[in-house]
Amino acid sequence: MEYNIALLKGDGIGPEIVDSAVRVLEKTADKFGHKFNFTPYLIGGCAIDATGKPLPQETIDGCLASDSVLLGAVGGPKWDDQPGGNRPEKALLGIRSALGLFTNLRPAQLYPALRKASPLKDEIVAEGFDIMIVRELTGGIYFGDRGYRQGKYGEEAYDTEAYSVTEIERIGKVAFETAMKRSKRVCSIDKANVLESSRLWRKTMHKLAEQYPEVEYSDMFVDNAAMQLVRDPKQFDVIVTSNMFGDILSDEASQITGSIGMLASASLGAGTRGMYEPIHGSAPDIAGQNRANPMATILSGAMMLRYSFGLSEEADAIENAVNKVLDAGHRTADLMGTDKGTPLTCTEMTEKIIEVL
Ligand code: NAD
Repeated sequence: MEYNIALLKGDGIGPEIVDSAVRVLEKTADKFGHKFNFTPYLIGGCAIDATGKPLPQETIDGCLASDSVLLGAVGGPKWDDQPGGNRPEKALLGIRSALGLFTNLRPAQLYPALRKASPLKDEIVAEGFDIMIVRELTGGIYFGDRGYRQGKYGEEAYDTEAYSVTEIERIGKVAFETAMKRSKRVCSIDKANVLESSRLWRKTMHKLAEQYPEVEYSDMFVDNAAMQLVRDPKQFDVIVTSNMFGDILSDEASQITGSIGMLASASLGAGTRGMYEPIHGSAPDIAGQNRANPMATILSGAMMLRYSFGLSEEADAIENAVNKVLDAGHRTADLMGTDKGTPLTCTEMTEKIIEVL
């Protein structure tokens, strides 16, 4: 099969890690007899430098014309004093919305070989965990009505959380369908004891759950979920939640794996096109030093094969190669912890994965 992939390398370590993922995808294409055509477009700080805007129209058009999008990361101190509307990170909201990406899938998995990297006690993570967070991405408080006004105590600012039944059903379906392919458990997280929007969320999820009798469904308040994630993470399979709660909980879930450089993500819409990216940022502190861990981006590439192109065997091959390299004891600097020895560079780690593939 032949696929066109738009590459948004972005800033900082973005170009290094995307180049690594491209090499792994090219090797996978060779092995399985596919052809991937890669076309780079500007996004973030590098786009501001070249065009004055973090998300040029050419980038949007290029992504819309592609079968899928692989993103590195955007931002860095150089652009920190850009006005709000022109900050590199603004491009992320813009491209998600231009591509109609309303779902964010974030796996948080503890790799057996990296168990020691988790900040949780051994007895909590002994059996590992494998959570898929399904976060609503284009609604809720990040997109709701906002502004400044005169309030009881003078000037105040406000943001609004609003969700429609349609938006809740849309994300709920993704969660239930995802659970059907895993261990068939969905936990919906809300704050229905306080928020009206959460009460509608919960009511709509309950209705939807009736259509999936095979899935074991539960609700949890977000404050409890934040505690349960560190107390007993293996109780979760698929978590579905709103934009803001998902933003916070998915970062918490990534921390308990102990390795930000390992975590991939997918943003999906109604069709097969998605945008795939590591969860970490542009790591300006190590940019250009060949020290970045490329695995989160490589695993994002694997997610692209699985979710956008339906190439599960190929995705499994990449994920297995990453596991084998870790099992063999290879580590980039961020994964060393208290281990002695010399860490692999970004390029060396990429080559190890390609060798195993
Ligand atoms: P960050 O994720 O870039 O870095 C946090 C820490 O983790 C740093 O010490 C960094 O060196 C390390 N790290 C991150 N990824 C790594 C990798 N692959 N390998 C090894 N170490 C890695 O977060 P930050 O420092 O808060 O943000 C830096 C910039 O990135 C900011 O401009 C921020 O706005 C931006 N950012 C972008 C995205 C995105 O593009 N999706 C996400 C988060 C932050």
